[in-house]
Amino acid sequence: MSTLEKAIATYGKDMQLTVACEELSELIKEICKNIRGSDNVNSITEELADCYIMMDQIAIIFGIKICDIGAFIDEKLARLEKRMAEREKDPGENREEVWKKNLDRLINGEFGEYNTKDFGKCAETLARYWRAQAEADYPGANDNFDYFMSCIKERDK
Ligand SMILES: [Mg+2]
Repeated sequence: MSTLEKAIATYGKDMQLTVACEELSELIKEICKNIRGSDNVNSITEELADCYIMMDQIAIIFGIKICDIGAFIDEKLARLEKRMAEREKDPGENREEVWKKNLDRLINGEFGEYNTKDFGKCAETLARYWRAQAEADYPGANDNFDYFMSCIKERDK
């Protein structure tokens, strides 16, 4: 049994998940302090160590394989690379311009029919719109996309 498996067996899953949340928030706190001008790279390093330890325990608790995390990491890094390459190609168009352009496209009906009387059609339009916003890294866009997709699923039941 590894040290981390032993810790989970000793303190219990709920306790270790709670500690994981605490450690993640300690890292957030140190990052915020740094942004406010604190010279605290040592503290950030220490909190990162705590978080790595807790992240390993989270994976053990939920039976998540390291290779599955790696697959997500590869996918997300490839997407990040692609976005940065696109940005390099067209540095004139920043994120906010893309968001605004998508809003204009939404108003002009380019994402499809936007008819508030037909909520199903409206949800399809908004799902397409939020998908485009997600491509432009709009905060929370994926959640909005998921929400409108769930509305469509509900309608099609
Ligand atoms: Mg800590």
